[in-house]
Amino acid sequence: MTTRRLLLSIHDVGPRFETEVDRLVEHVSRHVALEQLAMLVVPNHWGDHPLIGGSPFASRLRSWSDRGVSLFAHGWYHRDDSRHAGATSRFKARHMTAGEGEFLGLDHATALQRMTDGRALIEDISGTPVAGFVAPAWLYGPPALAALGEAGFALAEDHMKIWSPQTGATLARGPVITWASRSQTRIASSLAVARLLPPLMQFSPVVRIAVHPGDAHVPALMFSIDNALRRVRRSHTPARYDDLLPAPTSPCVS
Ligand SMILES: [Zn+2]
Repeated sequence: MTTRRLLLSIHDVGPRFETEVDRLVEHVSRHVALEQLAMLVVPNHWGDHPLIGGSPFASRLRSWSDRGVSLFAHGWYHRDDSRHAGATSRFKARHMTAGEGEFLGLDHATALQRMTDGRALIEDISGTPVAGFVAPAWLYGPPALAALGEAGFALAEDHMKIWSPQTGATLARGPVITWASRSQTRIASSLAVARLLPPLMQFSPVVRIAVHPGDAHVPALMFSIDNALRRVRRSHTPARYDDLLPAPTSPCVS
């Protein structure tokens, strides 16, 4: 029987949320080892929290990476500064993401530049290839989707799937279990969904759980995260995102 996998990620890792990220790492490490944890790194959150090589936060990132954490590039500014053409993207940008869908409205050249720069910055700091790219709020416009493969990322994900931008192959399907901390209504609905999804997904080959810095300020969310992890671990083994990639073919021994 193939192992069912649990993939856990901490979003929005960067100097802006250092305290929150520390709390989340401590909270989830009861369930998942650092080698099975993914961090989604924002190079310059909102344009005023730059991740700088040689800074104390860069050293921390390097040390997490040295201890096995997978690092993903997660946008550049995170915030969506584009002007959206079309009612659907305007609606998505405004209502689904609180303006955080940076890659929804970017043109191809800008998307590719930010992906390439983010990747280079994180790899310079960590000394290790990034595991992949995840757009802020899991939202990609068509030009950003096209740029992913050219930027050379091995993995990408949105809210419903994980895929290889190199081959186009879908590697896992199913919604991410995640929480929202922006308002009481959103907190309540995310708590309900986090209770419902683990039993519904107990036979899914892959279950993803994603936590955000804002969760660390809401005790009910932290409690729910703990419960979801405990529940999913009954049926799924913590794993790394890159476990989903086909094993590299070993060289022929003659
Ligand atoms: Zn994010």
